[in-house]
Amino acid sequence: MNIEGILNKGANILKANKIANPFLDSEILLSELINKGKKHIILNPKEILKSEHLNRFNKLIKRRKKGEPIAYLINKKEFWKNEFYVNKDVLIPRPDTELIIEQVLKIYPKNSQLQVLDIGTGSGCILLSILKERANFYGTGIDISQKSINVSNFNAKKLKLSNRSKFYNSDVDNFAIGKYDLIVSNPPYIELLNLKYLDKDVVNFEPKLALNGGLDGFSKIRKVISKASNLIKKNGKLILEIGFNQKNEVKKILKKEGFYINKVLKDYGNNDRCIISTKN
Ligand code: GLN
Repeated sequence: MNIEGILNKGANILKANKIANPFLDSEILLSELINKGKKHIILNPKEILKSEHLNRFNKLIKRRKKGEPIAYLINKKEFWKNEFYVNKDVLIPRPDTELIIEQVLKIYPKNSQLQVLDIGTGSGCILLSILKERANFYGTGIDISQKSINVSNFNAKKLKLSNRSKFYNSDVDNFAIGKYDLIVSNPPYIELLNLKYLDKDVVNFEPKLALNGGLDGFSKIRKVISKASNLIKKNGKLILEIGFNQKNEVKKILKKEGFYINKVLKDYGNNDRCIISTKN
């Protein structure tokens, strides 16, 4: 079968299974598989594919038609200015989370020197993106999942940041190494009972550990704020991603833990998503 034939076959299967962008997905999967850009695929529709490639493509389409996210199928996701390795052990980096990076770059000039901690680092995308932009920052990432630490370490190597970053498999409760100028976190903040209403691709495939914020959605945020309060230097900043309806409660928790609220930012969907605070 040629490129055009297999692309259409894949796309039609995805379409029949109500996948949102069947042709685009089919193209991405094929171009990944044969290791050639989309341009090659479009310019060479009649090129005959090896049977090994056809078999592997069919397997990927089978997984995609069940809703498995493209990022897990191709093991990569763009975030900020870099490409990160991802697998089912980590949340797929979201564009909305880039707000944190944007704000960090606004607050701290190029030559500043800071110690940064990322709580619940997952793929490492937040911490590593910040380090890549600021050559004098040193970073520590912690995560309760050992498997996610394997991924963040891999990404640190891939981005040549291993010499300025350290990742620990630890619950924030048991972590007491260092004092930080800046703490960032995208903690799990979805209410337990709302998990089932998330997009099927999310709820069926992404790690619950990275999404589940307990019964009221605040159980991990509370913990992150109270622990951050001990790990942060005086006048240090805490930048958090939060759920669209969590602003007022999170402000309250922050104030109680001795933080001053600098500002709340909205994401691309116009939802409150990011809160910047400073430790008094
Ligand atoms: N923004 C993510 C989602 O809606 C949730 C991330 C999180 O809980 N930290 O899928």
